[in-house]
This record gives sequence, structure tokens and C-alpha cells, in this order.
Amino acid sequence: MKLLMHMCCAPCTTYPLSVLRQEGIEPTGLYFNPNIHPIEEFERRKKTVEEFAALKSLDVKIYDDFRQSDWENFEGPADDRCIMCYSVRLKRAAELAASGGFEAFTTSLLVSPYQKHDLIKELGEGFASEYGIGFYYKDFRPGFREGQREAKEMGLYRQKYCGCIISLRNP
Ligand code: SF4
Repeated sequence: MKLLMHMCCAPCTTYPLSVLRQEGIEPTGLYFNPNIHPIEEFERRKKTVEEFAALKSLDVKIYDDFRQSDWENFEGPADDRCIMCYSVRLKRAAELAASGGFEAFTTSLLVSPYQKHDLIKELGEGFASEYGIGFYYKDFRPGFREGQREAKEMGLYRQKYCGCIISLRNP
């Protein structure tokens, strides 16, 4: 399967990548996270993805969009903010997967027990349907700790907050 894997960060990609490779799938990574605040943190996570890609021989496409104002100016409940945040990233992943000739896309967000898992699945499936491709869904959460442990062993930077300015203020 030709699969595009949206990567929220390197540590969260560790476990899903190992599962995919065990299944014989060699994904292409996609770093697209305009939610990350501030720019220094955005650059640090991006650099960590590049380090990870080199260590794992993973092909990764980097999109340098940095658009913190959408999150900074957001007024409304936290759940709505996260819906916007997932949607921006998953929609772009679906668009790029479709235009790049991929059969399906997925996201490393599915590994985190701290994210709204069912919502990510619902949005991913919705955008997949909109763009006429598949959404590779798997509940990777049981491997979250294992992935974080491997990331630590590789010496990768592991952030302490989700990403947007509001999550920085209230981790
Ligand atoms: S808390 Fe995380 S998922 Fe929610 S808006 Fe902020 S960065 Fe996005």
C-alpha cells in the first residue's frame, strides 16, 4: 500500500512506523503542523523529525507552514480548537496524499492517549472520503509507552506540551 503518514512529531511516529513496517508497508512521512508555538519549538520539532528520518531511513516531506495566529486568536471551547487543529492537518494530509498518488493516509496522532482519538478517526475518514482515498486506521495507543521509550533511547527531543499556544500555557 502506498501510504502517506502525517507525523505530529518524531516520538509519536516511532511506534506506528514499526507497526507499519512489520506489516510490510513503507510509508512516506509528512511533517505539517502549523499549530506549533512558538517558532523555536516549531523548528525544534521539525529538526527532530529530520533526525528521526535519517536514523530510520524514512522519506519525509516537510511543509514549513507556521500559522500560530489561528490558534492564538481562537475564541471558544478547547474541543472546538482541537477540531480545527486536527482538521487543518488531516485535510492537508488527505489533499497531498490524493495529489501525490497515495492510496491512503494516516496520522501518528492515533498513538497518543492524550489526543481525542475517536475524533481523529472520524475526521480522517471524512477527509479520506472527500478526496477519494483511504484512511489507514489503527489504534496505536497500546504502543505509546514503547514508542516513547524508543524515542528516549534514540536521544530524540520529547516535548512537554501538545503544541499550540494555549496548550503551552496549560499543558
Ligand atoms: S491542544 Fe493540541 S490538538 Fe488541541 S488545538 Fe492545541 S495543539 Fe491542537
